[in-house]
Amino acid sequence: MRAQVLEAFNQPYTLKTDFPRPPAPQGHEMLVRVTAASFCHTDAVFASGQMQQGLPRVNSHEFAGVVEEFGPEAEKVAQAKGIAKGNLVGVPGRAFQCCGECVECTDNGGDLHGYGVWCPRASNLGLTRDGGFQEYCLVDVRQVARVPEGGSMKAVDIAPLMCAGVTVWNALQAAGLDMSGSTVADKKSVAIVGAGGGLGHLGVQFAARLGWHVVAVDTTPAMGMLKSVVEELGEDGKNVTVVDALQESVDAAKKRIFGEPAKGLEGEKGCESSLILPESQPAFDFGMGILKNHGTCVAVSFPKDGWRFKPGDLVFRHIKLVGVLTGRNHQLQAMVDFAAKKTVKAKIRTYPLEKLNDLVEDYHRGVGGKLVVDMALKP
Ligand SMILES: [Zn+2]
Ligand SMILES: [Zn+2]
Repeated sequence: MRAQVLEAFNQPYTLKTDFPRPPAPQGHEMLVRVTAASFCHTDAVFASGQMQQGLPRVNSHEFAGVVEEFGPEAEKVAQAKGIAKGNLVGVPGRAFQCCGECVECTDNGGDLHGYGVWCPRASNLGLTRDGGFQEYCLVDVRQVARVPEGGSMKAVDIAPLMCAGVTVWNALQAAGLDMSGSTVADKKSVAIVGAGGGLGHLGVQFAARLGWHVVAVDTTPAMGMLKSVVEELGEDGKNVTVVDALQESVDAAKKRIFGEPAKGLEGEKGCESSLILPESQPAFDFGMGILKNHGTCVAVSFPKDGWRFKPGDLVFRHIKLVGVLTGRNHQLQAMVDFAAKKTVKAKIRTYPLEKLNDLVEDYHRGVGGKLVVDMALKP
């Protein structure tokens, strides 16, 4: 079968046409025919050698495919999840073959008993096991999300949600949003710093569709894409205020959006929460600065050498600083169901599998949106 294999760090992928097909699924495994596979920032980090994981490797930990075959223990779980042969499923990287015994697997926040997304003994597809840039892949039935049938979500729309989507969904939940969308009585504000990026533009759509006021912060090059995201939200687009952080300081933005504060009461004006998506100090400073007192700052990315932060923000302003990485399996399913129902889609560019190296080049050029391999495309 065809596969794109990373054989050496900092080198292009090698296209194989005789890559061995995965063996028959065992245990909770099921065989999926991959139909779309998305490229994530972590794939770029992996390919640079920074994660020091083994080669050769087939990357992509956010993909989608059609169920072909079940392992002996997989069919029952699949049935319980409403998944049958021939169904389209979304596949995240975590967690493939977890141990079922550790704290992550047993105290798992409401996921299937014995299944822990953060199990330290589990493998991660696309990182420690082969992932989506191949025609067939073995996945763990417990890790996937069912894709509602009959909607407008295609495999290329589902793939980018499997890492970027669930991560930003979990970040919004950590930021205090009610993900059922049922309690938006007094409109609260969330700032998304890096709103024009892969995670950011999904976060803007989720938060606006959930009825929150979104302060969408990015820099000049991202403005075009951000404005088209807002336009496509229709009526919900009215929930979004766009800020170009190269043109407007955080204090100016705060005054424009929330009004001039009374003297001494500056801490009462601002967002309830913020998400930090870019790996930069200015992004962090903006995300902290836009908050009102008692706000929550959710970090998703951070610079290699860490941030400088003002302890006074935590102590005197009582800001909570929390971190988020991907999400649990039930969050993944809730996110897919919501995205299908409310039409939340990533802006995508598609490539045939053979052109993965062109995709990577475009990624490093910063073309924007999510870059997705569509297996149906011919080179
Ligand atoms: Zn990822
Ligand atoms: Zn475990």
